Amino acid sequence: MAFAYDDSNIFARILRGEIPNDTVAENDHALAFRDISPKAPCHILVIPKGKYVSFDDFAANASEAEIAGFMRLCAQVCTQEGIGLEQGQGFRAITNAGTHGVQEVPHFHLHILGGAVMGPMIGARG
Ligand code: 5GP
Repeated sequence: MAFAYDDSNIFARILRGEIPNDTVAENDHALAFRDISPKAPCHILVIPKGKYVSFDDFAANASEAEIAGFMRLCAQVCTQEGIGLEQGQGFRAITNAGTHGVQEVPHFHLHILGGAVMGPMIGARG
């Protein structure tokens, strides 16, 4: 499967150190930082360091080490932020893909949102 990756996207620029970010956690394969326009008291973006456009690109093409590194960093974020079910009251994890998913930045990212009740998952269809 071919996913065209755009090196000029904003998260690629963050990974290259060209734009500052509020990092909360990092490992060899992934970076977690605060969303610049938070939609919840806690709104973290977790991104792989590799060039993956979307969730389906990452799931299909990332190595097992990259997938493990990404998922473990998600767990670390939940613990650090106190929103995981072991110590907190939960969270919502969302990833948007493509036009129908209304993805703004074409580098795969997981939104982790917590600190309040998130409400309905999506708006009513209509
Ligand atoms: P998407 O709609 O692609 O799922 O979400 C993109 C997210 O990236 C949005 O929540 C937006 O606020 C966030 N974002 C866009 N530009 C920047 C930036 O320069 N820095 C940070 N930290 N977040 C950004």
